[in-house]
Parts: sequence; structure tokens; C-alpha cells
Amino acid sequence: TEERSLNFIEQIIEEDLAAGFGADKLRFRFPPEPNGYLHVGHASSICLNFGLGLKYNAPVNLRFDDTNPAKEEQEYVDAIKKDVEWLGFTWDKELYASDYFQELYQWAVEFIKKGKAYVDSQSSEDMAKQKGTPNTPGTHSPYRDRSVDENLALFEGMKNGDFEEGTHVLRAKIDMASSNMLMRDPIMYRILHKHHHRTGEKWKIYPMYDWAHGESDYLEAVSHSLCTLEFLMHRELYDWFLDQIYDNTKTRPKQREFARRNLSHTVVSKRKLLQLVQEKYVTGWDDPRMSTISGMRRRGYTPNSIRNFADTIGIAKRTNLVDVSVLEFCVREDLNKTASRVMAVLDPVKLVITNYPEGQEEWLEAENNPEDESAGFREVPFSRELYIEREDFMENANSKYFRLTLGKEVRLKNAYIIKGESVVKDADGNITEIHATYDTDSRSGSGSEASLRKIKGTIHWVSIQHAVKAEVRLYDRLFTHENPDGDKEVDFKTYINPDSLQVITGYLEPSLKSAEAGERYQFQRLGYFCVDTDTNAEQLVFNKTVGLRDTWAK
Ligand code: ATP
Ligand code: MG
Ligand code: MG
Repeated sequence: TEERSLNFIEQIIEEDLAAGFGADKLRFRFPPEPNGYLHVGHASSICLNFGLGLKYNAPVNLRFDDTNPAKEEQEYVDAIKKDVEWLGFTWDKELYASDYFQELYQWAVEFIKKGKAYVDSQSSEDMAKQKGTPNTPGTHSPYRDRSVDENLALFEGMKNGDFEEGTHVLRAKIDMASSNMLMRDPIMYRILHKHHHRTGEKWKIYPMYDWAHGESDYLEAVSHSLCTLEFLMHRELYDWFLDQIYDNTKTRPKQREFARRNLSHTVVSKRKLLQLVQEKYVTGWDDPRMSTISGMRRRGYTPNSIRNFADTIGIAKRTNLVDVSVLEFCVREDLNKTASRVMAVLDPVKLVITNYPEGQEEWLEAENNPEDESAGFREVPFSRELYIEREDFMENANSKYFRLTLGKEVRLKNAYIIKGESVVKDADGNITEIHATYDTDSRSGSGSEASLRKIKGTIHWVSIQHAVKAEVRLYDRLFTHENPDGDKEVDFKTYINPDSLQVITGYLEPSLKSAEAGERYQFQRLGYFCVDTDTNAEQLVFNKTVGLRDTWAK
């Protein structure tokens, strides 16, 4: 692979190393909240963090940021682990912010004892009113000067479940006049009487993200804590919390921010993707139209193509919309190297080779992948009656038409040269059969003079009697708008594409009879397809992964 220049995160790391930070102390983490399935934006973050781990030979933890029991579930934890593994990365430790609840609680008690935190017993509305605006300082809560003892007793009561949700919070005592609104006595704990997927009913108070995140990084000795730009203003608070607990014999984590990666014609937000699932716009988190990693996997995207995509778009300091065609390009490029070529007809019309003996069949050799010699050959059956694509025949064609027409020759891929002779039509004038003759000496690969004749067009086909039927799912963009999420005034679901799924019957060469879920193929001249997980003994199901070219309407 080509040497690329350092991205700005790598530059920060290089500077730290140059300033004496030990390379053996580099440590990263990928910190998903298990409140949904990962999407293509997370893939960027995974590739960034695990990519740094590989580059600097440093451990990368998978840390679940599970501090909000209302939205988190084990199902999501399992799905996230599967996705990270599938992308090809290996974490050092599997960790949970909830593992630190006790430690965080004890630190909070220390804060109270040092006068750095207090229990506020106002309603959230009253607290909001006191926040002030960026230009005007906030006002102090009437509870800001509670005694240490009273604070300790109340906080313990909060922990023990003595109080209803919403009655008290623990706040850091920082600065109600700070120009950074997040520094105006931020909440550290709220009361939640909810079941947590790991700690069960044990905790009645839960730490806020800002309080838990940096401290989790600290406990894990994460050196560079990378997050998306919306946390830029949180950095001051991240540092303030660390200042209170930092022991200078340990690694002090550094938060740095990079731009979120948004993809065109889709949404990248777990909350919005959840709505699509719950409101049944899609069949599930892994619907092949979804921007989730599981959706892309089911669609037939390869881990390699997603990693290449992340690499191609790199990381940035400013948020922008990446066109989905960039992702599709990466998918196509990877599948071109790895997918076996097969023949399938998706819009069939019958072709009869009139001079081919009835009842005869022969098996012809076909190359599996011209891009990969080691992929070898397979055999495909040829017979008198074939299917070809309806659009590969034109009754009255001009001289620029290189597919099948009357009186002209075309090559059948891996088989013979044929010439169109006549058509059979139904009462409405629709073509029901095409009749052709073949040049008996022209079999591909036979080396005969006839086989070497130069013919302008080649079309694919399947033998009708040998063909395997399959359900084929064709996908269009899930959203008609390039940035469905771009206008906060308009519900993103307004832009759902009502025709994002089309289901048809395809006829495939028999080598695909026992194809298994997840296998990827190139249907020659049509695109890349993969076997869907709905496939069973009765029914083969294929998903169209991506076309051979970028053919989306401009
Ligand atoms: P969502 O809104 O989809 O839930 P999130 O940022 O709340 O996104 P987390 O589970 O907290 O989701 O994300 C884990 C990591 O992935 C975080 O470091 C986050 O910044 C990063 N991440 C999330 N979305 C994107 C994105 N679109 N591009 C790049 N990184 C992202
Ligand atoms: Mg979130
Ligand atoms: Mg988050």
C-alpha cells in the first residue's frame, strides 16, 4: 500500500512521542454506547482507533459506554462485538463503564468532601433557568452551599434508592459564570430506577457521560481518547474532572476530536436507524438497505471494502457529507478481485438454438475469475433452450447494437457464436421466443479457427432445463434526498424512497444450487450479488450488492 501522509491525529501522537511520551504507553479505545447497532460512521471510528493500534503496536480496548440503562441492551452489546470482529479487528480488553460505577461513586464522595460537588434538589426546569446564556452568567442554586455532611447523606440516600427519579442530582461545583456552558455546575449523577443490562438493580444513580467517560479512559490508561467534534466543548470539562483525580504516576488521557462521517442518501444515527426498524420501514437492523455494519454485511459488502472506504475518506476536522458512491466504489473494487463470476438471467426471454439437437446437453468450461487465476474453472451446462436477458435482444437494431439481433452474430459467453434467425410473438406482439442457429465449430476455448473469430458482442445465458430459480432482491437508495437529515425542520422520514426494494425471480446457472448465505458472486454483466440469510432448502435468496458501474441517476 502507498505511504500516505500522517493525518492530524497521527501528527498529535507523533508530537507526543517526540516530546518523550513512551510509545509503550500508547493505548486507544473504541467506546460505543450499546443503544443500537453500529453504522458506517462507527466503522470510521473503529478503523481510526484500531488502525492506530496496528500502526503503533498499541492495545485498543472495546469499551461499552453503558451509563444510560434506559436505552441499553445486551442484544446491542453482542451485535457490536460481532461487527468489530467482522471488520477484522481484535480488541485488547472488553470493558464496560459500568465496571467502574463503584470507583466513580467513591470519587464523587471525595468531591463532596472537598467541596467540589453538591446535591441539588431543584426541578430540572429551575436548574435550566439558572443556567444563564453564553453571554450572561448563571445564578447559583439555593442548594449550592449545602454542608458536606448534608450532601454526603443525601448522596448516599440517592444511591440507596431512597428518592424518586428527578428529585435530586449531584452536580460538580465549578463556575456558574464560565463562558463554557458545560462548566456551569454540570450534573454528575441522576437518579434512575431502571434495570441495567449488567448491574441489574444494584444502582439507583447513574453517572453522566461527561463524568464517566474521561474517568473510564483514565482507569484504562488510555493515552489518546478520540471522539467526534460535538465533544470539543466538553474537553474543558473532561480535563477538569481529570484534574481532580489525576495521579501523576499514571497516564493522563488526552481527548482529541475528529469530524463525524456522514454518508449521503442515508442517516447515521442509532436513534434514527432505530426508528426505521421500529416503524417497519425496513425489516430490521440488518436490512441490506440500512447504513448499519450488519446491513452492509448482509448486503454483501466486504470488511475489506469498508476498511478501504474509511481509509479513502480519512479523517477530517470538519464535518461533511461523503457521497455513498465512494463507498460503492470501494465495494466494487474489492469484489472485482474476489467474487466468482457466474451467469444469471434476471429478465428472461427464451432463446432456441434450432440446429442444436433436441435432448442433447454439454458441459462447458467457464473461468471463475479472470482477476484471480487461482480461482480456477467450473462447468456450465449448455442445451437447445436457453434464457437470455430481454434487453440483450432487439428485433430491429441499428449497426451500433452489438447484442443479439436478427441476421447478425453474437457470442454466448463461454459457449458458441450464434446468429439470430427469427422471433415468435404472442397475440399482443410480445416476443415469446427467439430462434437462432449456432456455429458448431465456434466453442469458446476450443482453439478452432471458428472459435477465434472476432465477434463484437458477448451476452450471458443460462440453460433453461438446468437453471436454478432464485428470489433476487434489488435495492435502491433508502432515501431520495442526498441529506435526509440535513434540515432540522423536516422529518428525515419524509425522504424515504418508497421503491427502495424490488423483488424478482432470477434464473441462475446450476453451480449456484447449493450456494450458502454470505457467499458473494458477480452475475456477469449485471453486478455483484450475495446469498441472503433468508436462504433455505426451498428457496435461494440473493441480494444485489452493487452494480458493475456507477449507474445511479445523477
Ligand atoms: P449515534 O448518534 O449514532 O448514537 P454516537 O456518537 O452517540 O452516535 P457512540 O456509540 O457513542 O455513538 O459512538 C462510539 C464512537 O463512534 C464515538 O467515539 C463516536 O464519536 C464515534 N462515532 C459515532 N458516529 C460517528 C460518525 N458518524 N463518524 C465518525 N465517528 C462516529
Ligand atoms: Mg448516542
Ligand atoms: Mg455517544
